[in-house]
Amino acid sequence: MCYNVGNMPGENETIIRLEGLTKRYGYGDAASFALKDFDLTVKRGEFIMIMGPSGCGKTTLLNIIGLLDTATSGAYYLNDEPVSRISARRQARLRAKKIGFIFQNFNLIPDLPIIENVSLPLVYSGYHKTRRLIKASEALDRFNLKEKEYYMPFQLSGGQQQRAAIARAIVAKPEIILADEPTGNLDSHSSTLVMEELKRIHSEGNTIIMVTHNPSLTVYATRVINMLDGAIDTDVKTVKDSDLPVRVEEKTKKHKKKNKKKRGRR
Ligand code: ADP
Ligand code: MG
Repeated sequence: MCYNVGNMPGENETIIRLEGLTKRYGYGDAASFALKDFDLTVKRGEFIMIMGPSGCGKTTLLNIIGLLDTATSGAYYLNDEPVSRISARRQARLRAKKIGFIFQNFNLIPDLPIIENVSLPLVYSGYHKTRRLIKASEALDRFNLKEKEYYMPFQLSGGQQQRAAIARAIVAKPEIILADEPTGNLDSHSSTLVMEELKRIHSEGNTIIMVTHNPSLTVYATRVINMLDGAIDTDVKTVKDSDLPVRVEEKTKKHKKKNKKKRGRR
C-alpha cells in the first residue's frame, strides 16, 4: 500500500516526507551512519514518539527535520517542497515560522528575561517589539507563568523553565513541534505537567514529534516509532490517520454547528 502520493480529499495532509534519508559521518573506513535509508511520512495532527537506544540517530533525525542539519543523501519534503532546493536564508525563515523546538536542557538564553526568551521566534513575524512582547506574555499566561515573565531563567524551577520553553516553541504558531527528550531532566511531577501541556497543544491540532526514553509517556502518542542503528525498527500507529486531532476538531465543529441549528429550531 502506498500513502505517499499526494493527499486524497478528506485525508489528513502530509506535512513531512523523508525518503531514503542517510546521514553519514566521516569517510571510507572511518564512515559511520547516524541515519540509514530512512523513510517517514508524517501527517498533520500526529503525535509521534521516537524511542531507541542512545546513539541510534534520534537527535540527528529531529535536527534534520527541524532544518538545523542536513542529510548526506536522500530527500526531505516539507509541505511537499524538497528542502534541498530551499535557500539557507529561506530555511532559516521557515525554521522560525513552521518549527518549534523543545530541548532536554530547555535552552533558554540565560541573560534574557523569560518574556524575551519566549518572544524570540517572533523575530521573523514582522511584528514590532512591543507586539512581540505582548504575544510572548499571552503565551506565558497559557502556561500559568505570567507572574514570572520578568524573571531570569535561573530563577525558575526546571519544570517552569521547560513550560516557558514550550511557550517559546508555540508562540509563532508553528506547524510542527519537535521535542528532544523534553522531560529528560525533570522529576516525575514536572514531567506530567509538561506532558499535559503537550497533550493540550496536540489536541488543538498541532503535530508533535518527540524523542523519549520513558516508555510510560507513549500513552500520549498517536504513533510510536522504535529506532535501531539509524533505521526504523518498529512503527505502530495507535490512532488512525482519520481520527487525528485536526479531523476530530473539524468533526466537533460540524457537530456544534448541527446542535446550534437544532437549538435554533426549538
Ligand atoms: P541519539 O540522539 O539517538 O542518541 P544521535 O543522533 O545523537 O543519537 O547520534 C547518532 C550517531 O551519530 C551516534 O553514533 C553519534 O556518535 C553520531 N554522531 C552524532 N553527531 C556526530 C558528529 N558531529 N560527528 C560524528 N558523529 C556524530
Ligand atoms: Mg539524542
